[in-house]
Amino acid sequence: MSQIKPIRIGISTCLLGENVRYDGGHKLNHFLADTLGQFVQYVPVCPEVECGLGIPRESMHLAGDPENPRLLTSRTGVDLTDRMKGWAAGRVRDLESEDLSGFIFKSRSPSSGMERVNVFSDKGQPVKRGVGIFARAFMDHFPHVPVEEDGRLNDPGLRENFIEAIFTLGRWRDLCQGKKTVGKLVMYHTNHKLLLLSHSRRHYTEMGRLVAAGKSLTPRDLYKNYGDLLVQALKVRATGKKNSDVLMHALGYFKKDLSHQEKEELLKYLEMYRKEQVPLVVPLTLLRHYIMKYDEPYLKEQLYFHPHPLEVMLRNHV
Ligand code: SF4
Repeated sequence: MSQIKPIRIGISTCLLGENVRYDGGHKLNHFLADTLGQFVQYVPVCPEVECGLGIPRESMHLAGDPENPRLLTSRTGVDLTDRMKGWAAGRVRDLESEDLSGFIFKSRSPSSGMERVNVFSDKGQPVKRGVGIFARAFMDHFPHVPVEEDGRLNDPGLRENFIEAIFTLGRWRDLCQGKKTVGKLVMYHTNHKLLLLSHSRRHYTEMGRLVAAGKSLTPRDLYKNYGDLLVQALKVRATGKKNSDVLMHALGYFKKDLSHQEKEELLKYLEMYRKEQVPLVVPLTLLRHYIMKYDEPYLKEQLYFHPHPLEVMLRNHV
């Protein structure tokens, strides 16, 4: 199942090193710009510059009700809320045609932060309960598009989950481009079995039932319902326990092939992974090696073993 179209990801422009910040600087993130950037096409968005504010400009912050804050300039107190909201409403509509598989926001920004942005009370006390004005508009408009922000992506587990989700949804978008047949959906579901199980057995089972009943639905409804479940499944975090179960399941496919010594070695690394002594990449690499060596046809097609390019260096933490 090859990637046909590049995966398109929205991103806060300053994370790519563009000098668009209020002080004329940037917030270049090397992993996003240089590593992940090799495999995705970014669609940069800088709400403050795109809504007509200059560079440099006065800094701003959120104030008032954390559920519905105002966007104010910090020194002169100019209220930019309506201007930003009006621009954001149009921008998210424009983004519909960009076919985004995800969005990476700049953390803590009153325009772009997706959570825990400071909101100041009348007395000047901050509470970390706000969402940037543009980020809120984006997430309300695209509830099914995976979102993350630069700070959270430093957490290896969150990073892994997000990147796996955008590549899996990228493959899903490719599938949806063509004729929507039950056969193609069966193949997608089959090839993603282990990957889905590493997130949520419940969703995998429900998706399986949907696929089995596929002929009783219109292709449009079938794909829509499957896509919704896929997004929900990918939001459930893969854990060490779930990965261990998946790896043991995969081992079962080699019952007749592996020598006693090979099996012992694999079990040793699986146990070390279970005890968090080695990262997931260790037993996975060994399994990949056996898949190639014994030409295991079913596992060869499982996206779990190659859900994203190796160069993004995931699955290498304990
Ligand atoms: S945080 Fe958002 S608004 Fe601020 S410079 Fe970056 S992209 Fe622009």
